[in-house]
Amino acid sequence: MWLVSFRSNWFEEASGYCGRCLSQAPVGRRSINHTPHLLLTLVTCGVWAVFWVQAVRSLKPWKCLKCGAAVYKLMSTRLESDKKRR
Ligand SMILES: [Zn+2]
Repeated sequence: MWLVSFRSNWFEEASGYCGRCLSQAPVGRRSINHTPHLLLTLVTCGVWAVFWVQAVRSLKPWKCLKCGAAVYKLMSTRLESDKKRR
């Protein structure tokens, strides 16, 4: 169980508009789970924050899963649908 909770990287998928495909396409990026980083930062009295910042900096932009081009405009994510409900 511990190994599962400390798997801080996973692949996030959403839908976006690709400028190369000129259409809506599935997009993806590597994402990080902030929860284990927060726990480690507390346990190490803030020392882990250095690695946390490095993990956030290493995040890649959204990419089209069809052609691999960088996509900046997202059509729908779970976060956006949450905002609409509020
Ligand atoms: Zn594309």
